[in-house]
Amino acid sequence: MSCIFCKIVSKEIPTKIIYENETVLAFNDINPMAPEHILVIPKRHIESIDDLSSNDKDITSSMFEAAREIANVRNLSEYGYRVIINNGKAAGQEVFHLHLHILGGKEKLGPMLAK
Ligand code: 5GP
Ligand code: ZN
Repeated sequence: MSCIFCKIVSKEIPTKIIYENETVLAFNDINPMAPEHILVIPKRHIESIDDLSSNDKDITSSMFEAAREIANVRNLSEYGYRVIINNGKAAGQEVFHLHLHILGGKEKLGPMLAK
């Protein structure tokens, strides 16, 4: 398995886990684009939203549940935060293991898309 996020799940790549339950885990992005930049991933390898099925509702709800809890614990909800999924090549997805970015901090984030 060459997927870098699967290697984080299997602990082959040691990474500080900041949230975990039986379905998802979360860790800091290696190249933060905001004061707080956290990734939430399903433990199961799913490439993108396009590969989800109606049987995966536990995964999608766990990802948002994790986002809410992380934002709460890290005080991001106080200031507001952005949640992004880059889905597919045109969206700039680089790691083809579904993940949600949580971006936040005290300062206002830039525009949603670079003009
Ligand atoms: P994408 O562009 O696919 O939406 O985002 C992939 C993200 O994964 C990027 O923000 C990148 O910095 C992050 N990333 C890539 N490899 C690693 C890694 O080995 N560890 C961590 N913590 N983040 C990574
Ligand atoms: Zn994977």
